[in-house]
Amino acid sequence: MNDGRALARAYLEQQRLIGTDAVPLPPTAAPVPVQAESIAPVELPPAGLTFDPPARDLFTADPLQQVTTLAGVAELVAPCTRCRLCESRNKTVPGEGPAQARLVCVGEGPGRTEDETGRPFVGQAGELLTKILGAIGLSRDQVYICNVVKCRPPQNRTPLYDEIAACVPYLHRQLDLIKPRVILAMGNTAAQTLLDTKQSLGALRGKIHRFRGTPVIVTYHPAALLRNPNWKKPTWDDVRIAHRLLDD
Ligand code: URA
Ligand code: SF4
Repeated sequence: MNDGRALARAYLEQQRLIGTDAVPLPPTAAPVPVQAESIAPVELPPAGLTFDPPARDLFTADPLQQVTTLAGVAELVAPCTRCRLCESRNKTVPGEGPAQARLVCVGEGPGRTEDETGRPFVGQAGELLTKILGAIGLSRDQVYICNVVKCRPPQNRTPLYDEIAACVPYLHRQLDLIKPRVILAMGNTAAQTLLDTKQSLGALRGKIHRFRGTPVIVTYHPAALLRNPNWKKPTWDDVRIAHRLLDD
């Protein structure tokens, strides 16, 4: 039955059968006008600093919202088949670093060495990332390092929009749990995903953005620096901004 009238008829018939002899209807009298001065002014929170917390009720059983540790997130990632990247991966690469890290570095997705080892940024790009962190006095193991997608795209291609959409809840949960002081978004994919924009890296660099209130600094991806050493100087500038924010 998909017709509203038929549904209403059935309802009334049912009410009659169970002995209801009157159906309450809403009053038809005109509503009393509310006096303008009786409405309290509403204080709006500042724009850009708010987000809707995940809805939780008896019917929300999203396991990702239930995990409370980074290891728990990694356990959900390991058997994940939410996108086609699961078909060609060897190991998932959830991310690594201390749960209390003040800085989180986000790349694009695992490369070959990462896919073989299950660890993020351990290839050539990873060596450069370790040097970049060293330049601001941080060792790799003080920083949480992860990627937007947790499985290697074939031939290291850029992850597709639907792959990112399928995987990004893991990154969001990791950031919710770590609550870092600063996020370093390395490359277009990380920057555009975290800031939910299509703007280019060039347009996003040099400003302090926010992800759910946490400052985000955008910079070049270490793999891009390997190809274009001219970007090293601007990257160092970006990373110094991140460093200053860490100490604030
Ligand atoms: N490039 C990335 O974006 N992530 C890695 O883990 C390695 C290379
Ligand atoms: Fe799951 Fe992310 Fe791997 Fe896709 S890339 S299969 S969403 S873990």
